[in-house]
Amino acid sequence: MALKLYNTLTREKEEFKPITNGEVGLYTCGPTVYNYAHIGNLRTFIFEDVLKRVLSFNNYKVKHVMNITDVGHLTGDRDMGEDKMENESKKENKNAYEIAEFYTIKFKDDLTHLNIIYPEIFCKATDNIKEQIEMIKVLENKGFTYKISDGIYFNTSLVEDYTKLSHQHLDSLKEGARVEVNSEKKNPTDFALWKFSPIDIKRQMEWVSPWGVGFPGWHIECSAMSIKYLGTHFDIHAGGVDFINLHHTNELAQSEAYSGQKPWVNYWMHGEFLNLKDGEKMAKSTGNFLTIQSEFINKNINPLVYRYATYSVHYRKQMEWNEETLPSAVSGYTNLINRVKSLGKDIGNVNPELKERFLESINDDLNMSKAMAVVGEVFKYGISNEDKLATILYFDKVLGLSLNKIMEESIPDEVIKLANDRLLARKNKDWSKSDELREKIKEFGYEVNDMGEEYKLIKI
Ligand code: AMP
Ligand code: ZN
Repeated sequence: MALKLYNTLTREKEEFKPITNGEVGLYTCGPTVYNYAHIGNLRTFIFEDVLKRVLSFNNYKVKHVMNITDVGHLTGDRDMGEDKMENESKKENKNAYEIAEFYTIKFKDDLTHLNIIYPEIFCKATDNIKEQIEMIKVLENKGFTYKISDGIYFNTSLVEDYTKLSHQHLDSLKEGARVEVNSEKKNPTDFALWKFSPIDIKRQMEWVSPWGVGFPGWHIECSAMSIKYLGTHFDIHAGGVDFINLHHTNELAQSEAYSGQKPWVNYWMHGEFLNLKDGEKMAKSTGNFLTIQSEFINKNINPLVYRYATYSVHYRKQMEWNEETLPSAVSGYTNLINRVKSLGKDIGNVNPELKERFLESINDDLNMSKAMAVVGEVFKYGISNEDKLATILYFDKVLGLSLNKIMEESIPDEVIKLANDRLLARKNKDWSKSDELREKIKEFGYEVNDMGEEYKLIKI
């Protein structure tokens, strides 16, 4: 069954074909770590996690890279305004590096709460300044850059297909860009590759470069780091829809200018926004937002309820979070858990017809509401409880709702701790420790089965 994904570049649902047989290079734009991630941001990260799980379910080996933006994202999107990190550092009376570290840890906690599989590579903009400078040097040598009083800029007029991702008319785009215009720029759509530190202000985050002391522009970090880890041609690049017109358009323009190769990325995928009631925007910059902590943990609600809730709306449609969304998701999730529990603990075989139907749904551009309808059918299907359970747990590899953990509820805490320690040992490739822990687990009467990044405990 072919996997079809909607490609923003072509505006079509296309059959996914990898560059290298059986492998996928995936880059997803990570958070700007000057504040907590809100549940809107996390909707995008859940969509990307589902994408990754669906690729794995289709037997692709995924190499996933995610950046952490810890410098260079200014309060105005068009290279104007203050640096978001330095700004927050003043507010919180901490240095910019401490701010970045604090919110990165919080972000990773959110991923853990939502059962989002960590990328193979997390990379920070500040750890890759050299790579960004090297890339700008190449662009300079190729004649794509120019210098003005506040930095080195990319000349977008030298790229013939600058708007190919956004499908915007260049004229209307130029008009829009003029709102925040820097009068020295050659074209309103030109963007900063390197910004100079202001003469009168000492920045906390700044580096020496061939053009003077300063810091990289926001877009160059993603181009430099994705090319570093995935090469000048890779499969999928994803983010939220707000990145299409500016961030991804600029990443694309400079990356193809840099390598002289097209296309840089084969599939561009974008998740739609989660809004508050009546379309009100949830935004980090205004502080008008809900977090996993505020909306779930503080209310003693399992954050996986949020993951479950996002499945009710297709990732390319806007979703509204209003006073009814949470109670309805809680009751839907609780109902699912109770139904899974009612199946008992014995695991039979995955049902092939249901598997086919599930695969058909997820492979149709990640149609998770249809996939959840198939989950609902499993309970009514004319098969044994053991087979129902096996089928549901198999689907959970994509759903990520930790349904296998429900089976473990009666397992003693010591055994779960040993199993978690063993998982860590395996991640660290400490095989002798992992074997040793397996034996200890056996002494408690349990066998541990490895399932990729997870495990299953079985009573023996
Ligand atoms: P940021 O930390 O602001 O750079 O954003 C992190 C990710 O969240 C990006 O992929 C954004 O496109 C996405 N995003 C921002 N706001 C929302 C929202 N309200 N709903 C869904 N995704 C969002
Ligand atoms: Zn990016």
